[in-house]
Amino acid sequence: MKIIAVGRNYAAHARELNNPVPGQPVIFLKPDTAALKDNRPFYLPAFSSDIHHEVEVILKISKEGKHIAEKFAHNYYEELSLGIDFTARDIQAALKEKGLPRELAKAFDNSAAIGSFIPKSEIPDIYGIHFNLRINGEMRQQGNTANLLFSFEHIISFVSQYITLKKGDLIFTGTPEGVGRVHPGDRLEAALNDTKLLHFEIK
Ligand code: MG
Repeated sequence: MKIIAVGRNYAAHARELNNPVPGQPVIFLKPDTAALKDNRPFYLPAFSSDIHHEVEVILKISKEGKHIAEKFAHNYYEELSLGIDFTARDIQAALKEKGLPRELAKAFDNSAAIGSFIPKSEIPDIYGIHFNLRINGEMRQQGNTANLLFSFEHIISFVSQYITLKKGDLIFTGTPEGVGRVHPGDRLEAALNDTKLLHFEIK
C-alpha cells in the first residue's frame, strides 16, 4: 500500500502559505510506515518543533489501474475517509528554501492519520462534501470539496499516467486553509458531512 498526496489543491490554502496556485496537481508520496490507524495517538517527533495538521479527504483505490482516462476514474474508488497529513513545517521550509526534496517533512512515521472509511454510495454529492477539523472542541479547519482545484477524477487520471494505482492505495486530496501547529494533549476530531470519522490525541 502506498499513500499518494496532493499539495495545494485548495486555492485558499496555497495562498496562506504564500505558494502559487498550481497549473497541474502537485504530487508527493508517503510510505506505508506513515499510516496511523485506529485512532491511535500521534507522538510528536523530536526532530521538529512545528508539526502542522492538514485535514484532507482520502480516497481508497478499489482496483488496479494505469493510464486511467478521467471519464472512467470514478470507477477506481468506492470508499472515502478523512485523514491528517502531518507536516513538519519547519523542516519543509528549510528544504523548500534549498530546493531539496520534502520527504523528511512529509513522509515520516505516522504522518498520515487515517479515519474510518464510508462508502461513496452513502455520500449524496461528492463535490459538496463539507469536512472539518476540531481541536479540543474548537473549529480549526473547514473545507468543501466544491472548492477543489483538481477533482478526484482528475487526480486519479493524472497520477495513473505516471504511477500504477493498486487496490488499497490511498490518495490524500489536499487541505483547505486553517493549517496550524499541534501540541501535546490536543484532541483532534475530523468529521465529513457531520459524521465523525477520526478522533485521536497528540502526545
Ligand atoms: Mg497536505
